[in-house]
Amino acid sequence: MPLHPRLLAAIDTYERDRDTRRVFPTPDTLHQLNALPQHLPTNPTDLTTILDTLATTIAPATVLTTSGRYFGFVTGGSLPAATAANILATTWDQNAALSLMSPAATHLETIALNWIAQLLHIPTTAVGTFVTGATMANFTGMAAARHKLLNDKGYDAELDGLFNAPAFPVIVGDEVHATVYKALSMLGLGRNRVIKVPTNSQGAMDPAQFPTLNEPALVCLQAGNVNTGALDSPQLIDVAKQSNSWVHVDGAFGLWSPQAKYTHADSWATDGHKWLNVPYDSGIAYVKNAADLTGALAVTASYLNSAGAIEPMQKSPDSSRRARGIDAWAALLSLGAQGVREMIETCCHHARAFATELNKNGVHILNEVNLNQVLAALDTDDKTTQWIEAIQQEGTCWTGSTIWRGRKAMRISVSSHATTQKDVERSIASMLRSIPSS
Ligand SMILES: *Cc1c(COP(=O)(O)O)cnc(C)c1O
Repeated sequence: MPLHPRLLAAIDTYERDRDTRRVFPTPDTLHQLNALPQHLPTNPTDLTTILDTLATTIAPATVLTTSGRYFGFVTGGSLPAATAANILATTWDQNAALSLMSPAATHLETIALNWIAQLLHIPTTAVGTFVTGATMANFTGMAAARHKLLNDKGYDAELDGLFNAPAFPVIVGDEVHATVYKALSMLGLGRNRVIKVPTNSQGAMDPAQFPTLNEPALVCLQAGNVNTGALDSPQLIDVAKQSNSWVHVDGAFGLWSPQAKYTHADSWATDGHKWLNVPYDSGIAYVKNAADLTGALAVTASYLNSAGAIEPMQKSPDSSRRARGIDAWAALLSLGAQGVREMIETCCHHARAFATELNKNGVHILNEVNLNQVLAALDTDDKTTQWIEAIQQEGTCWTGSTIWRGRKAMRISVSSHATTQKDVERSIASMLRSIPSS
């Protein structure tokens, strides 16, 4: 298929409009989505028409997460090299389930997984795997944990299911990410039976209140609280190890912090699509001992030849999937190790600038800004709500809202390479002029 000229034009126009467009689409542009056909047309539509519709109706209705002024959630914006590699990998239509299906995809994934392990202080002997996001990366790490903890008790959960399995304790912080509960529920470990460790004012586990464990448990630490950016202390790994527990680290974005050194854990979950700034969907899981991961997730079938290195689908909940490692590889190559560190540092620097400038102007900053997250609030919840709405409506930037320790707050997440000093200044100006007067 020759490349359609309108495809390139559509990409080009979108990129050009980035600095001037509103970050969140207007109600009018969103309303236009309703004009799209609701019923599957009987006859084909030609590619030119489809591209026109995408460029004229859909593109303006997108949220401009590639803008340097998008601070909603912790999403990052895709690096140019990562976007380009992603487009090419899609053109190549590679299936990364098996090295025989795509030797190139498997090769680049292996390289990217090694590079990421080095950057995140994960032993390079750990086995890594690309998944859709940190939700599935948590699932993957904790599936390996379940396998190991039950296997040590002489029980095979993969073969026999959990109905007669011996129990083991699951420890999380009371600020654990909601998706960890989801992963636990998918693993049959339950949302409700976890032991919750109380957290300090920043939402990190209070080590003094960590339970005494008399048997091996699954301990899930968090690197990067979604509201404050706080990291659970890596010293808790040593505490957990006294009972031979398995330590899993949910470090969706916090594992990229220069302070995050969780080398002695057993499994790690992180995201590529957050702070590495690659396209969705890209999560990454690592497990210290390969046998625990393959024990949990490998399949056998006569046509799956797995001599040598572990095949991608033998260490993942997925089988067929896109070649996520290609965009991660390109992102890492484009930045280099120093570039990754600088991108992280710059985001943290911008976060501190937001906190300082807003605070100078009478805004309350509710967290210690040690990473990329800022929680800002006005005197009352009502005022904070009005403020966030006004900022979103003005469109210069976009910030979300949250409840922190019972108080309404605006959440600023700085996690994109695209955010410049100028973007920060423009956004602060917009935030200050949006403060409700009464
Ligand atoms: C974002 C996040 C998740 C979920 O990640 P997805 O990529 O959306 O699946 C899990 N844990 C933490 C701490 C997060 O920040």
